[in-house]
Amino acid sequence: MSDPVKTIVVVGAGTMGSGIALTAAQSGLRAVQIDLSAAQLDKARGYHTKQLARLVEKQKMSAEDAAAAASRISYGADFDAFKDADCVIEAASENPQVKKKLFRAFAETFASDALLATNTSSISITDIATATGARASQVIGMHFFNPVPVMKLVEVIRGLATSDESVARTLDLARAMGKTPVLANDRAGFVSNRVLMPLINEAFYAWMEGVAEPHDIDQIMVLGCNFPMGPLRLADFIGLDVCHDIMMVLYRELGDAKFFPCPKLRQLVTAGRLGNKTNLGVFDYSPKA
Ligand code: NAD
Repeated sequence: MSDPVKTIVVVGAGTMGSGIALTAAQSGLRAVQIDLSAAQLDKARGYHTKQLARLVEKQKMSAEDAAAAASRISYGADFDAFKDADCVIEAASENPQVKKKLFRAFAETFASDALLATNTSSISITDIATATGARASQVIGMHFFNPVPVMKLVEVIRGLATSDESVARTLDLARAMGKTPVLANDRAGFVSNRVLMPLINEAFYAWMEGVAEPHDIDQIMVLGCNFPMGPLRLADFIGLDVCHDIMMVLYRELGDAKFFPCPKLRQLVTAGRLGNKTNLGVFDYSPKA
């Protein structure tokens, strides 16, 4: 049996990767934040500093603990320098080619017993694992939710070749990060996005067909269905490009037209209106708004 995970290399420093690295560091683990983009690494570092300062301000964490958590995170452009880590969590773009290329490199880089996890929202774990050859038993889906420091769920997905040991290690790791892991099987979108994405897509159709304005669509779902946030606001929060890419995986894999992204969603993505991360999506998040 392998030891519990102590150091996680997090590949991708965007919305999810930055949250995973912060949560790991807050839980006493070492985290290495990797991204190709220096700007994204800077943004992640700024986010970590701000979040930890906020916890100190709210007296939810001592200044010493916040400083210790910050010191457990390192940043870099290349994971080659961290090959002794016992776990890697990939949180790069939702694109099968990007992920398979990364997993091929992971199998060549990390120790023979390292856990190779992906935060994919929809792509087959079995398919990603094919890129690792003989290491497929160590590949697993570890699907965190946004914002990672707040959301309790981790959807854990085993591929066809994932070993019982990798599942047990992942469940332990999720719990060590203060999360509640729940198992799902390896079908496109697993449970969460298979159920959520058609709802978001339908909200875009309701907007496009003039059934109601975005604010009213969201308010109806919040007040009428007791949702904490409307589907259009949630789509902005997830990232409209990420929603689009997840829907395309669901459409291709499950072959059902209901998953094909609504033209209104596609139009916003084409225009670069990606939601909170660009300050403009369905709604306007710029300071002036
Ligand atoms: P994002 O666009 O905010 O960030 C992706 C980051 O990956 C970018 O910083 C990009 O520079 C980096 N990247 C791309 N290719 C890379 C490579 N080869 N090496 C290193 N870095 C690379 O995306 P996100 O919202 O953080 O999503 C990341 C993953 O998490 C996706 O698979 C997504 O489906 C999944 N996910 C997203 C959410 C969400 O709410 N946004 C929730 C759960 C899971």
